[in-house]
Amino acid sequence: MILNVDDHEPGRYARTRLLMAAGYQVAEARTGVEALNLVTALRPSLVLLDVNLPDINGLEVCRRIKADAAAGATPVLQVSASSISNRDQAGALDNGADAYLVEPVDSDVLLATVRAMLRMRKAEVDLAAANELLQRKNEDLQRFAYMASHDLQEPLRTVATYAALLARRYGANLDNDAHQFLTHIQGGTSRMSLLIQGLLMYARAGLDGEEEKESVDLNRILASTINDLEQSVTESNATITFGDLPTVRGNAVFLTQLFQNIIHNAMKYRKPDERPMINVTAARGNADETEFVISDNGIGIPTEYQETIFAPFHRLHGFEVPGSGIGLATCQRIVERHGGRIWVESEGPGMGSRFHFTLRA
Ligand code: ADP
Repeated sequence: MILNVDDHEPGRYARTRLLMAAGYQVAEARTGVEALNLVTALRPSLVLLDVNLPDINGLEVCRRIKADAAAGATPVLQVSASSISNRDQAGALDNGADAYLVEPVDSDVLLATVRAMLRMRKAEVDLAAANELLQRKNEDLQRFAYMASHDLQEPLRTVATYAALLARRYGANLDNDAHQFLTHIQGGTSRMSLLIQGLLMYARAGLDGEEEKESVDLNRILASTINDLEQSVTESNATITFGDLPTVRGNAVFLTQLFQNIIHNAMKYRKPDERPMINVTAARGNADETEFVISDNGIGIPTEYQETIFAPFHRLHGFEVPGSGIGLATCQRIVERHGGRIWVESEGPGMGSRFHFTLRA
């Protein structure tokens, strides 16, 4: 359905005939007000709009169509008398017109332009639909990952519990082989549990959540993080130093996770013969961003892996260092959902690492 707007009867009539012969349905309007009403009432696929109308100027009609929330996407083909200047043409396009033709308009050119505009509009609509579908699927997938990892924990707990019970009650009656098998079962369940927890954390950070509007004092977050990591701090004999940290808008649970993952890694990937020195600083950047740096004196990261370590399940280590490869991917999700960026710098193996991320002040 095309809306043909022109107060000049013979011209309007000729175009309606042309468009109908090409297979389109056509509605007609003589004035700007009538055009605006019909755009709302009929939802045409395209508006063919003469500039010289008796009431509201065609350029203004176009501007109003484009400003309308519901009708704004309707393509507008503006047509005007040859007397119009280049500046007016440019102005019409700036007003939101999708194309502009100057009288006398050749019928073939008019039809080809209409077809091209409808093709473009269809591509836009298809793209929007595909985007929406993709977003919905993505949300489904997030929910699925969350539910799956949540529900996987239950049977795993059962296996772990009964393996422990078996060892405790019947340990005396079991031979060495059986003890070995039990050790493997327990090792397997704890690795699996770590993986599931990682997955759960990652899925949760990807779910659309409540608005992150709390005011979060990062000094408190860091203090509780260090507290939570106490066992690793003691075991590795780590020293953690930090400057004064700002308060940011965000989600306290996620931000705790962020600091925890990075600081825990800094101890986990320490050099075997050196006590971990970890330093946390914050520097106010340009805009309203604060850049945080968490540096360590650990094993460092080769240049070629400095981007890939943020991908889920990407690890540079085998079972000798326990982990799921999902900690940094979660950090990236958390930082991005807070509107920031995360990256790492390291001069290479043995040279320590500096994890940077930005958060809005
Ligand atoms: P995980 O620690 O569970 O393997 P992460 O996503 O936290 O997974 O880290 C991914 C990989 O990045 C690790 O396997 C490790 O190789 C490397 N890495 C992370 N933090 C550091 C660090 N502070 N120093 C050296 N390597 C690191």
